[in-house]
This record gives sequence, C-alpha cells and structure tokens, in this order.
Amino acid sequence: MPHGTALIQNSLLDSLAAGPVICAEGYLFEFERRGYLQAGAYVPEVVLEHPDLVTQLHRELVHAGSDVVEAFTYYAHREKLRLIGKEHLLKEMNWQALAIAKEVARETGTLFAGDICNTNVFVGDDASRRTVRAMFEEQVGWAVEAGVDFVIGETFSWGEEALIALDVIKRAGMSAVITLAIHQRPETREGWSPAEACARLEAAGADVVGLNCIRGPRTMLPLLKSIRERVTGHVAALPVPYRTHDDAPSFQSLRDPAYPDAPGGRPFPTALDPFACTRYEIADFTRAAADLGVRYLGVCCGAGPHHIRSMAEALGRTPPASRYTADMSKHAFLGTNPNLKKENREYATEL
Ligand SMILES: [Zn+2]
Repeated sequence: MPHGTALIQNSLLDSLAAGPVICAEGYLFEFERRGYLQAGAYVPEVVLEHPDLVTQLHRELVHAGSDVVEAFTYYAHREKLRLIGKEHLLKEMNWQALAIAKEVARETGTLFAGDICNTNVFVGDDASRRTVRAMFEEQVGWAVEAGVDFVIGETFSWGEEALIALDVIKRAGMSAVITLAIHQRPETREGWSPAEACARLEAAGADVVGLNCIRGPRTMLPLLKSIRERVTGHVAALPVPYRTHDDAPSFQSLRDPAYPDAPGGRPFPTALDPFACTRYEIADFTRAAADLGVRYLGVCCGAGPHHIRSMAEALGRTPPASRYTADMSKHAFLGTNPNLKKENREYATEL
C-alpha cells in the first residue's frame, strides 16, 4: 500500500468506517509560491499550462500521506474564468484537472474527489441562487462523467450556498463532503452558528460536514467541538497552517507588527510566512481533532507535504515519506551517534 497502514477503498464511506481519512489541500497557495499562478484572482491556470506539475504535486501529497486526490478545480469555475477573460477554457480546465487527479488516484489506490467551492457570486437573492446552482451543476456534471468517488464542496461562508452545492451533489448521486469557511465572527454570513449550519447540512444529506480554510488550528478547534456535539455523522477539519489566535481568528485578520508594510497592510495572502505552523503544531492539532472525534482531516491554504506527513504520523501511520522523517541523532553537532566527532558535539552549545 503506497499510503502506509490505512486500508483505502473506492468508497469514501467505507474508508471513513475503517478509520480517519486525510485529504491534502492548499494547491492554490502552493502553486502561487512556486510561480505558476497569480495571487489575487487565484485561478488554477497551471492545470492547463503545466499539467505535469499538478500530477507531481498530487503524487507528492500521496507520498506524504494523503488518502484523497482532489481534482484541482478549486476556483476553476465560470465566475473566476470570466474575471480573467478565459471563460472559454472552463470545460477544458475542469476536464484536465479531473483527468490528472484520476490518474494519480488510480495509480496510488487513493480516493478520487471532485471539487466545487465558494462562487463569490452568492448574495442570498433568487438571481444568485440560480447562478450558483448552474455553476455547480456544470462542474459536478463533469466530475461525475470523470468517475469521481465523491465530491467535495468547500469554503462556503454562506450556509445557504453550501446547501445548494450539497443539493446538486446529491442529485448527481454522489457522496458529499461539505465544509464551511468561518471568518472572524463565529458564524456563517447569514448568521448561523457553525454547529447549526453543519446540522442543517447533515439533515439535508451531507455525508461529512465540517470546516476548511480561513482559520488555523487554534481558532478552528473550539468550533469543531461545538459541531461534533451537534451532529451525529462524520466531521471534517482542514485548517490553514497559520497561527491564528483569539484576537485574529482568521488568516486574513492576522497582522504582523514586525513587517507592517506588506501589500494591503496585512500578511494575507503573500506575507504569511512568519505565521506558519510547524509540522509539530499540525501533529498536535491532528491528535486534538481526532480525540474530539473528527474523522476527515486535512490542511488547507499554506499546507506543504511536511504538514501532511506530520498529520499522517500523528494518526499512527507511516506513509512513504516517513522514511525521511527527522532523525537528529545523526546531526553533526546536535546528534548522539557515537561516530560523530566529539569536538563538534561539544561545540553544540555555541551554535
Ligand atoms: Zn484554503
């Protein structure tokens, strides 16, 4: 098995019944850092321009412990492509992203997921309800044609938009993971508590409900607890790997007194580096969330493969990347291995 000890099957629900499922995310931030898409619009143009790199990132994340290969269709929707004047590439981009993810999922025996997300069109009136439903229908239709194992609907800050996404996925006959994006105030944009919103999604047929993006481990955990107490089914948690806290619960609200001159006066999205969680903080989060009963785990914008490996190891797994998990006993200065030079080890306190 390429992903360690977990027995993964083609069904999300069978996999969840067998144990926690890890879904690595955050592809937009990763490719922005690498220079293959632009911060701002955040459209996954790399899917068409450098498909080999997307294949490689999927492989790296499975190597690190992800049980799911999620098609990189986040923000590959009609509104975003219109914004950058490339609406004509919509179908091609979705097809390509799905084909790439399917190839890696099938070669590694992991789950193949379709993905839809916040449209930034929804405002709670009938016109936007119709528009977002049509956007979801075309993307979910392509995902079903591609043969996905389930569909993720993610990063919804409107509970009602999430319900529309869920309805489209269920009408297509697919299992649905629906996750909400909760900003500074602990509620959806229409004012539902996260627990209330998740209860509504569960009642409407979601297979997994929970939270993704926006909040780091520290400010997501209390909300997860309230959700876990309220719903009966599977709960999802995919925080951003940043040190959000009570005074700045979202990664957009973080401020950096050491560098107040970042563009826009805030670290989000391109100057968040000083706030990054270490792999150990992600391991701590994983254990805390798993103790609460969270079964579907991942890391969103800002995640690197080291975070995913750490998450997998915190669940007791040894993905292929664990072969290279740190062993400081062999470090020239800080190590304990008897073959190391005594003079260097004695110099350790001078480093
Ligand atoms: Zn995210």
